[in-house]
Amino acid sequence: MSHAADTAVAHPPQVPPTRYGLFIDNAFVEPSGPGYVDVDDPATGEVWAQVPDASVDDVDRAVRSARRAFEEGPWPTWRAADRAAFLVRFGQAIGEHAEELAALQVRENGKLYREMYGQAKLLPEYFTYYAGLAQMPAGHTNPLHLTDIINYTVREPLGVVAAITPWNSPLLLLIWKLGPALAAGCTVVAKPSEITPVSTLRLAEIAAECGLPPGVFNVVTGLGQPSGTALTGHPEVDKIAFTGSTATGQAIASQAGKSLKSLSLELGGKSPNIVFADADVDTAINGVIAGIFGASGQTCMAGSRILVQDEIYDRVVDELARRAEAIVVGNPQDDATQMGTIANQAQLEKVLHYIDVAKAEGARLVAGGVPATVADLPNGLFVRPTVFADVTNDMTIAREEVFGPIASVLRFTDEADAIKIANDSEFGLAAGVWTGNVQRAHRVAGKLRAGTVWINNYRKTGYATPFGGYKQSGVGRENGPDALHAYTEEKSVWVDTGQGVKDPFNPRA
Ligand code: NAD
Repeated sequence: MSHAADTAVAHPPQVPPTRYGLFIDNAFVEPSGPGYVDVDDPATGEVWAQVPDASVDDVDRAVRSARRAFEEGPWPTWRAADRAAFLVRFGQAIGEHAEELAALQVRENGKLYREMYGQAKLLPEYFTYYAGLAQMPAGHTNPLHLTDIINYTVREPLGVVAAITPWNSPLLLLIWKLGPALAAGCTVVAKPSEITPVSTLRLAEIAAECGLPPGVFNVVTGLGQPSGTALTGHPEVDKIAFTGSTATGQAIASQAGKSLKSLSLELGGKSPNIVFADADVDTAINGVIAGIFGASGQTCMAGSRILVQDEIYDRVVDELARRAEAIVVGNPQDDATQMGTIANQAQLEKVLHYIDVAKAEGARLVAGGVPATVADLPNGLFVRPTVFADVTNDMTIAREEVFGPIASVLRFTDEADAIKIANDSEFGLAAGVWTGNVQRAHRVAGKLRAGTVWINNYRKTGYATPFGGYKQSGVGRENGPDALHAYTEEKSVWVDTGQGVKDPFNPRA
């Protein structure tokens, strides 16, 4: 990695962290101010990198670069086939760097290496998909009530996109934005989470190596305030594509409302995972565990409210507790580890706080509930997989997103009761349904107010499938066949083919 702003600073007692620059116009550049943000490894506590806390001026520089690349080209005017060829090339390069990109992300957020590696190996397919979409017909000829007139629509690139991402899957969630934005001909300024910025910087460097023109993909690093707000408030940004918490999404939407920027928001969740008594219970329990303990529960789609039917409630609670206690918490780099770290100190404190609140409100702790100690990693941010039984839907633990490995088990009587509890949430990101009854499965899926429903499986996403939330889980969808539309403006063109303007005061004549 050839980051230009690489003056290492002393950071005793460990190896000095590597200092990165901002990535603007295909080069690492020094920030205008002295502020840097530490990036640490949540498994060891080691500060291993520092990135600029971009100032308003730095953000302005990046946005102006993206604006210039958009207005002066050549990127938006490249043939769709050439943009597609770039995307395929870029995807291939990401595949070739999958180990490096996975390792960087694990060092940033402590997720399992094998999960991040699997994700990185899949990223090229996203680009192949978006390369295909880039070459799909982009307009229509529309039927009219008039003769001698043709009306057609074209889809044009929307402009400069601010892509703001969280720390839990830094590259995947960026690529959900970057892929369609580039395919459409937009230019991008990305702002990764201050907790996971290095992988995004490396991705931008790889894009440049693959021949992306300067200014098309810039990266500013830094905190939400001022870097994030400077970006979302910048008058030359046309669209904000945001993934993060509902609170930040609300702040961004208010700010974007002032300039009426185009907006997509992928926000938080409190997703119900519903286990009916007629389900294959062993499979369902595996799905429940995947839903809440996968990625240490730090996923927007975590199945954090586990709704279990009366008849099997005690059996499921007992088995979940037993399985949770057996989960191997440890070094995210080890193949044997099943759950890695909590991604940062603030998040660990949040998780422990919610454990206290759940206990105080009367939930029954049946597994975990304490920080985990891992030999050789005394400074690691680990917590034991936690299961609360007898949770009711009015408890804080059932209403607020924890973003950690805490399963709340709720009891329901029948199908109507399950649907009522499931939909009684301000969120609507995802839901799971476990049943052996095919009619019930589809009936319940139809009634759940959620952007994704998994039937007898959980926690799957794909490039060809739209993903997004109902209610306060978001606005808009990412991925799927319409992914490009979110990065285009639609223009309607009227062409007179011979009639002329006969009566200036009657446009229909
Ligand atoms: P966050 O909202 O704290 O931060 C997300 C990003 O926004 C970061 O880059 C941050 O620096 C930036 N930011 C913060 N304040 C800002 C502001 N005022 N203006 C502009 N940018 C600002 O979220 P997080 O803690 O990084 O991530 C966890 C959250 O993300 C969870 O709520 C989770 O559910 C959500 N998430 C949603 C999805 C989805 O697809 N729906 C996917 C992953 C994560």
